[in-house]
Amino acid sequence: MSYGDLEAVRGIDLEVAGREIFAFVGPNGAGKTTTVEILEGYRERDGGEVAVLGVDPADAGRRWRQRIGIVLQECNMQPELTVRESLELYAGYYEAPRSVAETIELVGLEGAADQRAARLSGGQRRRLDVALALVGDPELLFLDEPTTGFDPSARRQAWEVIASLRDLGKTVFLTTHYMDEAQALADRVAIIVGGAIVAEGAPGELGGRSVRATSISFRLPAGVLTADLPAEVAEAIGGGARPAVNAEVELRTEHPVAVLNALTSWALARDLELGGLEVRRPSLEDVYLELTE
Ligand code: ATP
Repeated sequence: MSYGDLEAVRGIDLEVAGREIFAFVGPNGAGKTTTVEILEGYRERDGGEVAVLGVDPADAGRRWRQRIGIVLQECNMQPELTVRESLELYAGYYEAPRSVAETIELVGLEGAADQRAARLSGGQRRRLDVALALVGDPELLFLDEPTTGFDPSARRQAWEVIASLRDLGKTVFLTTHYMDEAQALADRVAIIVGGAIVAEGAPGELGGRSVRATSISFRLPAGVLTADLPAEVAEAIGGGARPAVNAEVELRTEHPVAVLNALTSWALARDLELGGLEVRRPSLEDVYLELTE
């Protein structure tokens, strides 16, 4: 897909299974919106083959459209309608809609069902967006950055709603900029950079994450030097330590159990505290930053 001279999406090859939550991530301008709009049938592509629910979105009609739900970043709901009225209005557009009451319950808007859309909080509005997409009982949902601008607890609540879609047997194609969101929700993640897919897989395994070195960090007790540490630990430091700042030691190892055992046995035997002891596997965000830089 090109815009003039700019090839915005080039030769991407993606497959999303039914009943899967699939996260599509990438930096600004990577080609996510272009791709998603092609899949939704909103943008005519220059080339390539696309099938969504077995149909080419470029030729798809009303029947196909009834099988998908779309939650855009900005939705223009009618401000004077209540939650229930908005849903009743939308339900009328579909041949076999879900029950409005059930949909309200599903997104956790029971307490606000008779509130006008204009008076909903940002988080409640987003729930209404999702409810409007769900009321047609679609098989496939496109969610575009569903939690941008949410406070942490509203995000968690939105995640619960999205995760519950899996239990309903829906397929979800999620676009997000938050790696913790992809980690928490997605069965599979694809990273797009400069119009091409650079990695694809389960969030726990993306970019070889499951086999990457674990990071262990701690503060050296007063009066202790790295040279005093047990051999296994000193060795791990030697093999890729970051410089110690304020006696902070960070090391990476592929044998975290052995190194931790040596370190903690050593500290216990000497009655030493290891302040700020932390064991961390590379996060999805670490892998993402590495792949997109
Ligand atoms: P963001 O995360 O910022 O939403 P994105 O991954 O969705 O970004 P796209 O919107 O698909 O990226 O844009 C991909 C590239 O194509 C960008 O370089 C963008 O400037 C360009 N582009 C997008 N839409 C158009 C358009 N209608 N005309 C010309 N160029 C466009």
